[in-house]
Amino acid sequence: MQLLKTKILEEGQALSDSILKVDSFLNHRMDPVLMHEMGKEFKRRFQEEKIDVVLTIESSGIGPGVMAALELGVPMIFARKRKSVTLTDDLITANVYSFTKKEANEIAVSNKFISSGDRVLIIDDFLANGQAALGLMEICHKVNATVVGIGIVIEKAFQDGGAKLREQGVRVESLAKIEALSLGEITFVEERED
Ligand code: 5GP
Repeated sequence: MQLLKTKILEEGQALSDSILKVDSFLNHRMDPVLMHEMGKEFKRRFQEEKIDVVLTIESSGIGPGVMAALELGVPMIFARKRKSVTLTDDLITANVYSFTKKEANEIAVSNKFISSGDRVLIIDDFLANGQAALGLMEICHKVNATVVGIGIVIEKAFQDGGAKLREQGVRVESLAKIEALSLGEITFVEERED
């Protein structure tokens, strides 16, 4: 998605060879026009699928998740992160190790909002090692919901999350794919824009 790549080049900061900071338009301040365009692009890529619900994870997945859901005309659920491992009957949970925070969180979704047979589109802001997406997939599998695809705003293609997810046969669509980061420099994977 050219608009997003331009924004990343203009405002993104490579903090190291593995972390990209995009807090001026995605992770802290949000650019609503760009977010809306992302929602339209996710719809364009997944519109032939039957989708019942968009599933994401708080907090940075909520912006792109709700925009995709708005365009697809379905509800959006965000998994909540919980520090304590308190078992309750009505929650579906998975454990996720956070790449940026370097800590494990239990994530949870109420079983009121997702159920057997639902066709789910997973959305997240970044794909690094795939832990967040795998945790969201685990939640879907626990209730026998079908993951129809995974939509990512920024995939860091030099980390192994994309390969892990695609190996499982799930379709992963990323709006921008980063080939490499180094202090002050961002390069994208060359792709044909259709
Ligand atoms: P994964 O679970 O794929 O290892 O990491 C994805 C999650 O970590 C995303 O939900 C995102 O919030 C965070 N993340 C991973 N890499 C980056 C990064 O380079 N920059 C930012 N801002 N967040 C990242």
